[in-house]
Amino acid sequence: MQLITKAPRGTKDILPIECGKWIFLENLLREESENFGFKEIRTPVFEHTELFKRTVGEDTDVVQKEMYTFSDKSGRSITLRPEGTASTARAMLENSLHNGALPIKLSYFSSCYRYEKPQAGRWREFHQFGLEIFGSQSPFADAELINTAISIFKRLGLKNIKLQINTIGCSKCRETYYDELNHYFNFYKDDLCETCLERLKTNPMRILDCKNSSCQKLIKEAPIVIEFLCKECAEHFEFLKKYLTKLQIEYVVNPRIVRGLDYYTKTVFEFVSEELGTQAVVGGGGRYDNLVSQIGGKDIPALGFGIGMERLLLILEKQGISLPSYEPCELYIASAGEEGKIKAFILANQIRQAGIKTECDIVNRTMKSQMKYADKINAKYSIAIGEDEIKDGYAMLKNMETGETRKISIGEDFISSFSKAHVELENGDALLSK
Ligand SMILES: [Zn+2]
Ligand SMILES: [Zn+2]
Repeated sequence: MQLITKAPRGTKDILPIECGKWIFLENLLREESENFGFKEIRTPVFEHTELFKRTVGEDTDVVQKEMYTFSDKSGRSITLRPEGTASTARAMLENSLHNGALPIKLSYFSSCYRYEKPQAGRWREFHQFGLEIFGSQSPFADAELINTAISIFKRLGLKNIKLQINTIGCSKCRETYYDELNHYFNFYKDDLCETCLERLKTNPMRILDCKNSSCQKLIKEAPIVIEFLCKECAEHFEFLKKYLTKLQIEYVVNPRIVRGLDYYTKTVFEFVSEELGTQAVVGGGGRYDNLVSQIGGKDIPALGFGIGMERLLLILEKQGISLPSYEPCELYIASAGEEGKIKAFILANQIRQAGIKTECDIVNRTMKSQMKYADKINAKYSIAIGEDEIKDGYAMLKNMETGETRKISIGEDFISSFSKAHVELENGDALLSK
C-alpha cells in the first residue's frame, strides 16, 4: 500500500484498543483529583508566542529550540503549547476566575508540542495531565498538591515512586545565590557550552538544567540555592516538610532539582521511578508565585503538578498493571433477507435502549459471514433472524462461548424475554439490572 504520506516523526496514532485504556486512565485521574476539589479547564492548542516567551523563559531550551512557532495568515506569531501551565494561568486571568472564591483548583488534559529528538517515552506531540492551584501562599497548598498526586499513584497501584523535594527560593534569596553561581561558573567559564556562556549573562540558574556533559560535571559541584534561602523561604520549606511528615508521605530532599522552566519559585518536586532506566522523572511540579503577575495579572500565588500521559502508561506497563479497554459487544443480531435485516435493526435499537452493547449487519453479508464477524469482534451473545423466526415470533439466544441457547420472543415482549434468558445463560449475573 502506497500512502501519500505518513504521520509526522515524533507523533503517533492512538488506536481504539489503546484509546479504551486512555479513557479509563483519564477518568481515574479526573475522579481522584475531583475528590480534592479540582475542576477541569480546556484551553486552546495554540496561543500567542509571547505567552510562552514570558512565562517559560526566553533563555530556556523549550523556548529557544523546541517550540512549534509559526506566523498565521495575518502575520501573528502563534505557538503550539509546549506545556499546560501558562495557558491555564492565562485563561484563569482572562476569564476573571480569580474574582470568585479562592483558591481555584484546576485540572487539565492537554496535548503539548515540542520539537525534541524522539526517544522512548518522548514524543513531539505528547499529552499532559496537570493540576493547578491559584490563590494560596501557604505550604498547606504545597502539601495538598503533592498529596493529590500521591493519591493518584496509589489508586493506580503504582509502586516504588519516590518523592524528591527541593526549594529554589524567591527573587530575594536569589540575589545572593546568583552572585555565588556567577562567581563559580565564571571561574570554570572555559568548560561551559556556548548556550551556557550566554546563560551566565542572563540567568545563571538556567545552567543547572544543561544536559551538556562538560556542563554537567560543573553542575554537580555548583553551589546550591538551599544554602542561601531568605527567612520566609526557609520557613515555607520547613512547614512543607512537617506537613508531609504528618500526612505520612515519604520524601527525600534533593537539592539538585531545579525544574526546567523559568517560572518556578520556592517548592519544586519530582516523582522519580527506576522503572524507566536511570531515575526517570514520572511527574513533577512546584510553586510559581510570580507567573500570574508576569502574564500581566495580579499578584496571585500559584503552584502546579504535571504528568506525562505517555510516560505514565509506560510505567504502568513496566509494572505489569494492565488497564481495561473497551468491553466487547454483548449481543450480535444476525439476519437474512430484507425483512430480517429490518427486524434486526428494530430489535437492536430496543435492546440498546436497555443499555446493552448491540450490533447488527450493515454490510449486507450472508448469515454465515455475519456469524464469523460476531466471532471476530468477540460478541458474547448472538441471535439469528431469518424468515422462520419472523413467522414464529421466536429466535434462539446463543452464548457464543459455551454454545448454550435459550428460546426468546422477538415480539412485543422481546426485552423481558431477552433479559430472562440472558440472566439464565449468565448464571444469575443480572446484566440488565446493572
Ligand atoms: Zn526567599
Ligand atoms: Zn551547558
